[in-house]
Amino acid sequence: MGLGSTRRTVLITGAAGFLGSHLAERLLDEGYEVVGLDNLMTGDLANLRGVERDPHFHLEIGDVRDRLPVYAEIIFNFACPASPIHYQSDPHATLTTSMLGAMRLLEHARTRKVRIVHASTSEVYGDPLEHPQKETYWGHVNPVGERACYDEGKRVAETILMDARRLHGADTRLVRIFNTYGPRMALNDGRVVSNFIRQVIEDEPITVYGDGSQSRSFCYVSDLVDGIVKMGMLPQAEHPIVNLGNPRELTMHELAETVMKVADKRVEVVRRPLPSDDPRRRCPDITLARKMLGFEPRVPLEDGVAATYRDFQERLGQVPPKAANSKRRLVAAVG
Ligand code: UDP
Repeated sequence: MGLGSTRRTVLITGAAGFLGSHLAERLLDEGYEVVGLDNLMTGDLANLRGVERDPHFHLEIGDVRDRLPVYAEIIFNFACPASPIHYQSDPHATLTTSMLGAMRLLEHARTRKVRIVHASTSEVYGDPLEHPQKETYWGHVNPVGERACYDEGKRVAETILMDARRLHGADTRLVRIFNTYGPRMALNDGRVVSNFIRQVIEDEPITVYGDGSQSRSFCYVSDLVDGIVKMGMLPQAEHPIVNLGNPRELTMHELAETVMKVADKRVEVVRRPLPSDDPRRRCPDITLARKMLGFEPRVPLEDGVAATYRDFQERLGQVPPKAANSKRRLVAAVG
């Protein structure tokens, strides 16, 4: 960053991840100096192709649990493996990234008045007994199950950040992110959108876990990033905890049908066992986000799936990439 630059500096931890890299693009487009931090545990440098040559983007390879390398006015904390197979592959790393990462960031929030926008998750609601989920719901989480390293890690990070707000006046904000999808999701993250799209592209059977009647609500990444940036840039966050996601709820069977319709081809649908503690239903109540942020998801599922499908086809070598930097434009076109 040049001397005398008047740009405001933001730090994104987990910048090489799916959400972190999209957020980096958006903040660069909005005129910020962006420092990205990533330990590449699940992040991928390929996700940063759209920003790596931008003179206002700076990458640090490092871990949010260690001392932070820079000063920034706002820290967007997106460092943590987020898909079940990734976060369960090293539960200790998952839990400590959330917990120690939050503690580390707080040093900055307390001593240097840095604003922290923390990526929390709908998983704090666990397998919810209230539906749809409002921010006031306390959740229904198994503290010792396979998902606990992620769920409890995110919950304790929330505790740490909200205590600091109460006790020290730290400017900490939580966005509870519901299922999000889009270009650059890791091809091997085992998530339902990436699995179904890859399976259809490769003419493999679609694997529906359980009876396929469980529900999720899928938000396209550009819509989600709108909400994150709005929350980050509010001068005062009167309500420091907000749900972000798309309230259109559908079953995994309906998602499978949507992917096949978009692809204009059919493959076999097979059943596989339901993973343990798999939430039965999940849908955000976004009343608060609408009111406080003017947040409104705009990308219809079919359009978002089509853009994601095209991105997967490119990365799986099924169609040639459109052009250099095409992903940045692809997202802009849909979003
Ligand atoms: N799922 C599925 N087939 C797959 C992968 C996932 O039916 O190949 C189901 C999974 O059991 C869950 C839903 O899809 O009910 C969403 O799973 P995902 O891992 O994407 O996210 P999360 O469970 O964290 O919401």
